[in-house]
Formats: sequence, C-alpha cells, structure tokens
Amino acid sequence: MTGDRPTHVVVVGGGFAGVACTRRLAGRPGVRVTLLERNGYHQFQPLLYQVATAELTPDDIRFDLEAMFAKHDNVEVRTAEVVAVDPSAPSVTLAGGEVVAGDVLVLAAGSQPNFFHTPGADQHTFPLYSLQDAERVRSRVLQLIEDARAKPELVDEGALNFVIVGAGATGVETAGALAELIHEVMPHVHPHLAVAGAQIILVDLGHAVLGPFSPDAHDYAAKQLQRRGVQLRLGTSAREIGPGHVTLSDGDVIRTHLTVWGGGLMAAPLAAGSGLTQGRGGRIDVLPDLTVEGYPSVYALGDVANIPDADDQALPQLGSVAQQAGDWAGRSILAGLEGEGRRPFRYHDKGIMAMIGRKAAVAEIGEHRHELHGRLAFAAWLGVHAQLMANAGAELDAFLAWADEFYLRSHHRSAALLDPATVNTPRIHWDAD
Ligand SMILES: Cc1cc2nc3c(=O)[nH]c(=O)nc-3n(C[C@H](O)[C@H](O)[C@H](O)COP(=O)(O)OP(=O)(O)OC[C@H]3O[C@@H](n4cnc5c(N)ncnc54)[C@H](O)[C@@H]3O)c2cc1C
Repeated sequence: MTGDRPTHVVVVGGGFAGVACTRRLAGRPGVRVTLLERNGYHQFQPLLYQVATAELTPDDIRFDLEAMFAKHDNVEVRTAEVVAVDPSAPSVTLAGGEVVAGDVLVLAAGSQPNFFHTPGADQHTFPLYSLQDAERVRSRVLQLIEDARAKPELVDEGALNFVIVGAGATGVETAGALAELIHEVMPHVHPHLAVAGAQIILVDLGHAVLGPFSPDAHDYAAKQLQRRGVQLRLGTSAREIGPGHVTLSDGDVIRTHLTVWGGGLMAAPLAAGSGLTQGRGGRIDVLPDLTVEGYPSVYALGDVANIPDADDQALPQLGSVAQQAGDWAGRSILAGLEGEGRRPFRYHDKGIMAMIGRKAAVAEIGEHRHELHGRLAFAAWLGVHAQLMANAGAELDAFLAWADEFYLRSHHRSAALLDPATVNTPRIHWDAD
C-alpha cells in the first residue's frame, strides 16, 4: 500500500515479461495494475513462423488480455500505445495525450527489427516479429504460389524464390517450414505448381547456421535444411534489397518477391525515447534486481532490457528470460510492499532449441547444454513451448492439435489455412523491378 491506497503498478507491454509480472500481481492485496498493450492481445512469438507458413491461424497464437485477467478486479487492461516515458514521475503518455502515472513503472515493450542500415531492407523485406508481420508473410507466400500456379512463366521471374536473411533460430525455422510447405505440402494441393523451380535461400554473414549452438548442432541443422532443399549462402550478407531482388555481398543478385528479415533485433522505440541508459542493441541497462539505476521505481524487463546474469553478461532475448524476469519483478514489487529488500534476478536456464522441420530439431538442454537432435529434441521443444504458453496464461488446445498434426500428417493443411481469399498484402506488379 502507498498511504491508504493500493500501490499502482503501470506495466507497458503485454508480451511474456509484462504478462508474467501482471499475473504475479493479479489478485494480490495492496496493489493494482494497469497493463497497457497497443494490440490488446498477447502474441506468442515462438509460433509466429507457423502462422507465416500457414501451419497455424493467427487466432491460434493471439490471446485476449482482457479475458486473461477478467477475474482479477485489481488489473485493468487497456489497449493503448505508449508514446513517452517519464521515469522520474514515474508516468507514461499515451497516444491520445493522456498521462498515466503510477507508483511503479514496468517497461516491457519488447524489440523491433534491426536492419543494420542495409539499403532497402526496411522498405522491401518482411520482418517476423509481430502477428501482423506473420500475416503479411503468409499473405505474400500464398499470393506468390497463386500467381505461379496461374502463370507458370512467373517462376522464371522469381515467383517461387524466397530469401531469408539471418540463420539464427527465426531464419532456420522459417526456411525449414517454407521448404516443407513448398516441397511437401504444395504437390498435394496444387499438383501442377512448378515446385522444381522454387528456391529457398538462407543468407547469413556467419559461417554456420544457428550460431549460438554447438558445432555438432550447426552440422546437423545445415544437413537437415539442405535435405529439405534449402540453399545455404553463409559468409555472405544482403548488401541491398529491392522490391524484386536481393543483392548479396559477393555480387550475386537473386530475383525474389519475398525476403524475410530475421537478421537482428534491437530494443523497441520506447527505449530510445525514455532517456534511460541504453546498452547493446539500444536496450535499457538494468541493475541485477531489474530496476534502472537512479530510478528504483522503474523496472525494465525482457527484450527491451540488458539483463545481467550472475557473471555480468547480458542474458539472451528469449521468452523464458522475459517470463522469469516478469515474474521476478512481480515478486520484488510484492516483497517491497512487505518492507523487504530486493534480491538479484536469477535466471533458470532451460537451454536453447530450434525446430528445423518435421522430426528434425536441435536442443541444448539446461545450463550444461545437454545436446539432443531429431525426435527427442522435438519432444523437448514441445515441452518447453507448452510450458511457456501455459505460463503466459494461453490456451494450449490449438498448439497441441498442431503438434499432433505436424508430427503425424505434415502434408495436410486445412483449406482455411491455405485460402488465398484471406490475402491482404498488396499485390505484386510483375512488370516492376
Ligand atoms: C520469430 C520469433 C521466434 C522466437 N522463438 C522463440 C523460442 O522458440 N523460444 C524462446 O524462448 N524465445 C523465442 N523468441 C524470443 C521471444 O519471443 C522474446 O524474447 C519474447 O517475446 C520477449 O518478451 P517481451 O515481453 O520482452 O517482449 P514481447 O513479447 O515482444 O512483448 C512486448 C509487447 O509490448 C508491446 N508494445 C511495444 N511497444 C509498445 C508501446 N509503445 N505501447 C504499448 N505496447 C507496446 C508489443 O505490442 C508487445 O505485445 C522468438 C522471437 C521471435 C521474434
């Protein structure tokens, strides 16, 4: 309590971190929460590529925040965009000009794509960070397939060439899923589609796919991708991107009408406008207890923050880091109400994992990085993601149905998933670029 009123916690962002913090505070006496999320829903980012490649519908990974907290009177969810932060007050300003002040401010606004000043990348690539991004990719893929089916000569103009920039988990998962969509699903859906002319090209400046993983995992992932028809262009970067091509750093020009950007992330724009100290990737530097130096009532969590581990190294941008940090901040706020001191955040490392395709995944489990490939890694991936989803307060039904379908019948896609009528990305003018 602050005097005779409940402590007001203002949370910006309904992602993993914001939701975990709010869940910890929901229903607790002496505190009330205002959760500000521009979309009004929580999007489950680890499954974005399944939406982008028509494996899941957007509704399967979109969870209404108001419904999530409906039974808690001390939580108010508002669909609102925060445009400014005043850490001294602390308060935030909403897009309409309203100022929302709190006793505690929790910044959990996530990331945005980092194009590293690559010419044309911001205009002509398709990032994969939000649900809207995933829907745009899906629309473009379905449109290109439809165009190539109607006019097979467009395949020579790159209609079925897909470039993915960045061979981290997002790029690898997207490339693998696109390859399965084109080479395994489409021959059943459109038997006359010229899939032999399709190219799925994964580009990365580094010399291995899945950089943070072990050399064995690099080899395994590379082989699995190649087996699915993905071409690897490693040690190469995208130098320039236009509406119908990508120029690589070695001078090659690839004709394409879909370049997916998985090339890097930086802090959400709110970080830059906050006046708070920013470190690598523009992320807000935080103390071990997750508050910002000089502002004991301001927390920064998840992808928007540089969170130090016990060795003072920044933790990676992962859902599990964000979720644990959100929960920790909630506990810390509650402990403060009881007059207790703050403790440094301790991350319980569950490991890293990536899905390459059906029955092909890599996982390095726990702090000791016990390595798994193939079906066991798929099972580990499933378990960790089901737990992440459940912790985020989301329904597991669609996810589990997808896993069952994916594992047993990868060639099947419902008509609704592949319906071009849902296409909303601007159509391509085939005579341009
Ligand atoms: C394609 C992809 C795949 C991934 N796969 C995995 C995986 O398999 N496993 C894993 O652990 N991690 C994965 N990650 C990383 C993980 O999703 C992120 O680390 C995690 O989402 C970060 O949580 P967060 O709460 O900090 O931010 P987010 O989940 O991004 O949430 C931030 C929220 O803030 C909102 N917001 C932003 N700015 C404002 C504003 N100004 N006003 C109001 N609201 C705002 C956004 O709309 C968003 O809902 C993946 C990420 C991507 C992009």
